[in-house]
Amino acid sequence: MTQTSAHPNHDLARELRESQLTGGLKHFIGGEWVDSQSGETFQSHTPTDNSALVTVASGDAADIDRAARAAHDAFQTWREVSGAERRNILHKIADLIEKRSQEIAVLESVDTGQAIRFMKSAAARGAENFRFYADRAPGAQDGESLPAPGFLNYSIRQPIGPVGVITPWNTPFMLSTWKIAPALAAGCTVVHKPAEWSPVTATLLAEIMDEAGLPKGVHNLVHGFGESAGKALTEHPLIKAVAFVGETVTGSHIMRQGADTLKRVHFELGGKNPVVVFDDADLDKALDAVVFMIYSLNGERCTSSSRVLIQEGIYDEFTARIAERARNIRVGDPLDPDTEVGPLVHPRHFQKVMGYFDKAREEGATIAAGGERVGGEGNYVSPTLFTGARNDMRISQEEIFGPVLTAIPFTDEADALVLANDVKYGLAGYLWTNDLTRAHRFAHGLEAGMIWVNSENVRHLPTPFGGVKNSGIGRDGGDYSFEFYMETKNIAISLGTHKTARLGVGQAPVVQKEVAEG
Ligand code: NAD
Repeated sequence: MTQTSAHPNHDLARELRESQLTGGLKHFIGGEWVDSQSGETFQSHTPTDNSALVTVASGDAADIDRAARAAHDAFQTWREVSGAERRNILHKIADLIEKRSQEIAVLESVDTGQAIRFMKSAAARGAENFRFYADRAPGAQDGESLPAPGFLNYSIRQPIGPVGVITPWNTPFMLSTWKIAPALAAGCTVVHKPAEWSPVTATLLAEIMDEAGLPKGVHNLVHGFGESAGKALTEHPLIKAVAFVGETVTGSHIMRQGADTLKRVHFELGGKNPVVVFDDADLDKALDAVVFMIYSLNGERCTSSSRVLIQEGIYDEFTARIAERARNIRVGDPLDPDTEVGPLVHPRHFQKVMGYFDKAREEGATIAAGGERVGGEGNYVSPTLFTGARNDMRISQEEIFGPVLTAIPFTDEADALVLANDVKYGLAGYLWTNDLTRAHRFAHGLEAGMIWVNSENVRHLPTPFGGVKNSGIGRDGGDYSFEFYMETKNIAISLGTHKTARLGVGQAPVVQKEVAEG
């Protein structure tokens, strides 16, 4: 582990912990900071040494009910606010995020263990999400004109109502803005339940939105555990839709929990994304992308390329180059700007990731780099590469969600496609080849919602973001988000030429006597 020298980020972190966290985190409901009605709290910890970070209000069904009612009441007026006014407020939110971006980045690092070098851009991306949807707010209700003989049909879109947003712990600030910004732009009101392992920046976001002038009750925040606060949110009758980012198995629970109230759901779930490297590719660029897409963000990233499929002629050399890079990665204090991999979010997640080092050995794979704990305290693991793996091993099939890469050889294009698709997930895929025809053919056959050819994941907000198979339902991004947060209504106007079939204007039917007389 790289040794930490004193850095100004530590002073800022100390200052912020004193000013922001000593009083504990409360819920934000109907424009007020409140404790849980039960008075319950829980303790959140920092992954650097697992010491106590902050006391957090622990919400349950009563707090969710209060927040859902606040969101319901606020919806009656927020839905009528003009698109231009919504745009102004959302831009103001983006301005304030930018103003507090250093604070957001430092607190996110302390809370999640993500390296500060990546959290700075995560805060900036949060602001971008608000700006992007701010500019789309005035057009959110736009529909289509669909003329038919004798009729003018036109559609409009209207906000669905109060929505629940449930987010995970890996990059919580950015992911929350990705959901909340389009919901507000559409005219929906929100109840947000952030992950219990990283609750801090959701509180900052609520403060920012309040300061930006968002009317009371339009955005509500309830902290707490999935099985209590999260479950109650998905079951509440006033909540019309649930936007969820998290594990596949939690998505199944939410679908069941929302069944009685017929919730509309949008799921962004897990992945075991392949990066396929053919022997004709630009291997230097491919190497950079492969290393970046698994070891950045601690590998706690839904679109991480956690399975690398390498053509057999270049397998040994390419895996040796990955291993060398992995061994050079700087693991350490997340607040140090030189750190590339920080501690994993929680001791339970740390144990899960460590467990895969044992599984790899049991399954007969080789640990070509890493595969061990780093340092004596905190949740640090070394960037890891498994070689000699087969696609049917658990290290190839299961989402590890850490800085852990499994390398599998393939013979030809057909073999690569079978291996790439032979998992239950289908979020993202990455393809490295200089054969243009093959690139298109392979991309069409690959079972994934998003595919990058000769590139790592590069974000483009208008494009559809989401997965197939067990990786999700629905798409975010551009207009796709509005399809989820809004109802489409069709209005048919007759042009006056249309003839309605007339009933009850003919001769009364003659009833046969015998029948009538019985
Ligand atoms: P998780 O499913 O354990 O928790 C996510 C959220 O759901 C938390 O807020 C949790 O409290 C809540 N929750 C848990 N049980 C619930 C229930 N029964 N009802 C309602 N809410 C409940 O996920 P996690 O461990 O926090 O996050 C990691 C997972 O998120 C990984 O699988 C990762 O791939 C996925 N993820 C996906 C994307 C994507 O875009 N597809 C992005 C980021 C993370």
